[in-house]
Order: sequence, then structure tokens, then C-alpha cells
Amino acid sequence: MKLRVVVLGAGFGGLELSTLLSEALGEGLDLTLLDRNDAFFFGFSKLDVMFGRKAPDAVRLPYRNIAKPGVRFRQEAITAIDPEARRITTDQGSYDADVLVVALGADYDLSATPGLIEGGNEFYTFAGAERLREVIPTFSRGRAIVGVTSTPFKCPPAPSEAALLLHDDLTARGVREACEISLVIPFGIPIPPSPATSKALIAAFAERGITFLPNRLVRALDPARRVAILDDKSEMPYDLFLGIPKHRVPEVVTASGMTTDGWIPVDRKNLKTRFPGVYAIGDVTSVGTAKAGVFSEGAARVVAASILADIQGGEQPPAYKGAGSCYVEFGAERVGRVDVDFLSGPSPTGSFFTPSLALAGEKQQFGSSRRARWFGL
Ligand SMILES: Cc1cc2nc3c(=O)[nH]c(=O)nc-3n(C[C@H](O)[C@H](O)[C@H](O)COP(=O)(O)OP(=O)(O)OC[C@H]3O[C@@H](n4cnc5c(N)ncnc54)[C@H](O)[C@@H]3O)c2cc1C
Repeated sequence: MKLRVVVLGAGFGGLELSTLLSEALGEGLDLTLLDRNDAFFFGFSKLDVMFGRKAPDAVRLPYRNIAKPGVRFRQEAITAIDPEARRITTDQGSYDADVLVVALGADYDLSATPGLIEGGNEFYTFAGAERLREVIPTFSRGRAIVGVTSTPFKCPPAPSEAALLLHDDLTARGVREACEISLVIPFGIPIPPSPATSKALIAAFAERGITFLPNRLVRALDPARRVAILDDKSEMPYDLFLGIPKHRVPEVVTASGMTTDGWIPVDRKNLKTRFPGVYAIGDVTSVGTAKAGVFSEGAARVVAASILADIQGGEQPPAYKGAGSCYVEFGAERVGRVDVDFLSGPSPTGSFFTPSLALAGEKQQFGSSRRARWFGL
């Protein structure tokens, strides 16, 4: 009997898990990988798209290219998850699993921030990044705010990166002098696990005249008066608002009854949920890491090893460390790196690697290695 695995979501976590199980079991595997979209794109490609560095079509990785022994990709929207029965319903049928892995990521609730849809922009959806590609070139005078509206949010460096890349864009167009840039984030420093990375980012903001507002959230926009209203009720005028919207699990996950306090709780060591045979990995969980692709990928590695140990009778893998490298765009084509470890020690730690062209090359390599491994491209 082949092991029937159903993987919900073909993002960072789902793609890596499917690849690892296919490599280990080949045709001995019966894995269905479900996603409502027809293509994957890296989170960081949204920054490339919004600033016109890459065309939207150039960053799409179509799922039809997945060709792995034992793996079948289906483009279907998941409409119900029964974790007790390990049964999945989609808009096209249903699936029963021996092992179920929920890797559905985080969705957004744009309407949770009054005024955001009517009077602002966001760059966390692909559609939002595509729209900004048209909007940013029209901004050449006035006040820009990059603002976080709620926690948790994906890729904590991304707001800082957006502010620095906006500075480059305005400078290249010769309009930087006529514009102000402010960055509003809910933490005391940009990357809490890494004081060194944070120090370098704060220095980069200061060098570029970017106003940094820590420990604040943007609660609402008033489009008529063009002001952002912060959580301490203070107001900031804006002409261009680049927002990070409120995150939440996809509706189908809420309806499944798997969540506590909004996210799926898992055993930190092995990503098991409280339902036998059901794992959850990545942004959809409250495992205790930041929400970023590298951590979803690391969780997939532990789950793959755990599934293989169960069926092959080997040892269970070492506990999940929640560790990974995040690349940070500093502008001027330079990229820094922070190696973060969330779960090994009593508190998260992060080592900083100074921005350089070499690390920009390493980030490219990070993307192209995944593209080759997951899609054969
Ligand atoms: C601007 C930006 C920059 C980023 N930069 C980085 C970076 O440099 N490095 C990094 O590691 N991370 C980065 N991230 C974060 C990264 O993109 C996510 O954390 C990562 O994709 C999470 O992986 P995941 O597998 O948990 O979920 P996802 O990759 O989000 O995958 C979830 C999948 O589930 C599917 N899905 C959801 N609901 C349904 C449904 N009902 N039916 C069918 N399918 C469904 C979705 O279509 C999606 O493909 C960035 C994010 C943003 C927004």
C-alpha cells in the first residue's frame, strides 16, 4: 500500500515537503499537492514587481512544471478540512489521507484597517504589488509612509526593505528631495532577534533621511484628510501609503476548528497538531518563529523526516530549531543577511552579515536553487 499524503498549499512549505518525500519514496508515494493558484512566486518577488525591477510574468513559477515521482499537483480551492477524519473537500472533489499536512500560509484582511482599501496601497498581495508598479512612478512629491497595521506579519524585514528601495527609486528619478519617507513598525527595533541587523538598518535610515517610528502601528487611514491614524491616536499626513495589511489564517482553516487564538498550535519539536496524522507547517501555525519562507521550509524538513521515520521505523528527527537565513535588501543593490534561530535557546538570536554585492548574488542563488529543485526550471 502506498502512503497517501495530502499536502494543503503549494507554497514554501508544501513544495519542499513534496520534494523531500518524492526524493525518498519515489513511486512508493501517493502524494496530492493542492493549491488554488496556478503558479508560485517568492514573497520577495513582490518587492521586485512593485519597484519595476522585474515583470510580473518573469517571477511566476507555474505549477504545471512540477514533475516528481509520486506527486500529483491539483489546482483546486480547498473548501473544507476535517482533521479528525483527515478528509479534504475542494471545489472539485474530496481526498482522504493517511497523513495530512496543512501548509496554507497566511491570508490578509484588508478591511480590518479602515481606509486602507479606499485610500492606501499594500504590497503583501501579488495584485497589490502589481498595482503599485503603476502608482509609485506617479509619486514625485510629498509624504510616503510604509506602515504596519497589525502583528504578526510576514517577513519582518520587508517594511524596512520597502522604505530603503523607495528611497532608491525616488533618488533614481531625481525627486528624492521633494519627498519624505517614514517607516512605522510595531517593534522597538526593525529586527528584534538581531540587534546588529537592526543597528545597521537604523543607520541606513538615518543616512537616507528616512524617519523611523518604532513601537507604533497604523490603525486606520482617513482618505478624505489623507492622514494615517496610529495606535496612540496621533496622526501622520501622507500622499502615498504602502501598507502591511492584517494577517489571518485562510477562512477554511478557521472553519476547520484547528486554530487557537487565530493560528494552528503545533508541537514545536515535530509540527504535529493535536489531531493524529495531521501536521501543520509555516505561516499558518503559531510555532514561535517569524512568518517567513525559510522557516516553513525548515519545518517541512522536520515533517518529512518524521513521516519517513514513522513508515520506515527509523529514529525521529531532532527537534525543529526554527532557524534560517533571511536576506535583507539595503538598497544600492546591496543585500545583507541575518541568520536567525528562534527555538534552540531561551530566546531568539540573530547573526548579521554586512550588506554586499556578494550577498545579493547569494540571494539570487537562494531563489534559483529552489526554482530548480521544486520546478525543474
Ligand atoms: C514582501 C514580502 C517579502 C518576503 N520576503 C521573504 C524573504 O526574503 N524570505 C523569506 O523566507 N520569506 C519572505 N517572505 C515571506 C514568505 O513569502 C512567506 O512567509 C512564505 O511564503 C510562507 O510559506 P508557507 O508555505 O507557510 O505559505 P505560502 O507560501 O503562503 O503558501 C500557502 C499556499 O496555500 C494556498 N492556499 C491558501 N488557501 C487556500 C485554499 N483555500 N485552497 C487552496 N489553496 C490555498 C495559497 O495559494 C498558497 O500558495 C516575504 C513575504 C512578503 C509579503
